[in-house]
Amino acid sequence: MGDYVLVLNAGSSSLKFSVYRRSDSDALEIDARGQIDGIGTAPRFTAARGDGGAGIKNEGLNAAVCDAPSALEHLAGWLRSRYVGAQVLGVGHRVVHGGPRYTQPLLVTPAVLDDLRALVPLAPLHQPHNLAAIEAVSERLTGVPQVACFDTSFHRGQPAVATLVPLPRNLGANGLQRYGFHGLSYEYVASMLPKAAPGIATGRVIVAHLGSGASLCALDKGKSIDSTLGFTALDGLCMGTRPGALDPGVVLYLFQVLGKSAAEVEKILYKESGLLGISGISNDMRHLLGNPAPEARLAVDYFVYRAAREIGGLTAVLGGVDGLVFTAGIGENAPEVRRRICEASAWLGVRLDPDANRRSAACISAADSRVSVWVIPTNEELMIARHTSRVLGLVEAGT
Ligand code: AMP
Repeated sequence: MGDYVLVLNAGSSSLKFSVYRRSDSDALEIDARGQIDGIGTAPRFTAARGDGGAGIKNEGLNAAVCDAPSALEHLAGWLRSRYVGAQVLGVGHRVVHGGPRYTQPLLVTPAVLDDLRALVPLAPLHQPHNLAAIEAVSERLTGVPQVACFDTSFHRGQPAVATLVPLPRNLGANGLQRYGFHGLSYEYVASMLPKAAPGIATGRVIVAHLGSGASLCALDKGKSIDSTLGFTALDGLCMGTRPGALDPGVVLYLFQVLGKSAAEVEKILYKESGLLGISGISNDMRHLLGNPAPEARLAVDYFVYRAAREIGGLTAVLGGVDGLVFTAGIGENAPEVRRRICEASAWLGVRLDPDANRRSAACISAADSRVSVWVIPTNEELMIARHTSRVLGLVEAGT
């Protein structure tokens, strides 16, 4: 087995990983991917071959796998046994927030890590776990270079009006601006458009990243010019546990009238709202679709309503729209949600091919649709592998 680049995407209770191996022809190719999930509750390790072949590991772990360091310890043991004698060339991490300073993927140093820690309040759901994985790697894989790849980088070329937070100027000195997130996903989709959907690649495209986090990005000739997520990952669309855009007066009300503390408000906004908050049943679209409870239906109705409303807004930003792309867990796997969003966007000239939509085909619009509609599975890990190999001066990662 050749040397490899390890890609890590660390969440609150899961550590997702991918292994990109250096092949004989000096290209980086996906060899395996998997995750340790249920960290701290019922930890489980699963791994599959990168080419989508059979699973290579699926086992419950003992409760000692209770945090990022112990999860990494377990993963490192598995990697040593599978890739005997191979060297880890580098580790690429998904880091949600790069703040005002970090506009490109870069090598992690202790000073960079300190700066990224200061951004934890801007992404409390993700950033602490992303950084815990970096720290765990420094301790256990001493000397292996690490690259931080930011979800904010792809949006950094947006025009000033799109990034503005219209509060008093003196409050804006420390990076109070809209950043946008899911950038690794959008960057990957944009990189795929010339091959997957050449007719729209140089046009005006709205990409809908609909997963447990959800947002839209307006692409003009492949560049991000606006997105629905902003200063933090709370803005825009309704998400699994986050509300999306709120009247800021609601937040004042939570503090002043309901007497909530800052910690309570943070928990409400990041963990208790969105699909979960509206339905009181689940944050998972799979559990809500087909559930006859009125609260479940209302949650899905709101998710669709908000997505269609924001598609209209970004169409105005782009001055029209040529293509619509669905990606991420819901976007790739929920034909009913795609159908409903597209029906609500019929005024833009969107018409689906119902059969192609049911099959989640690559192109799901009808032949006479003025706007072509696509399903492009995202691959943030490949984007991270590409950035990591570029920053470390290794070979280019293939697709
Ligand atoms: P992601 O964050 O991209 O991994 O997406 C995760 C979310 O995708 C889950 O919470 C589900 O709500 C949703 N999802 C995954 N598969 C399906 C499916 N077959 N139907 C509806 N929603 C799905």
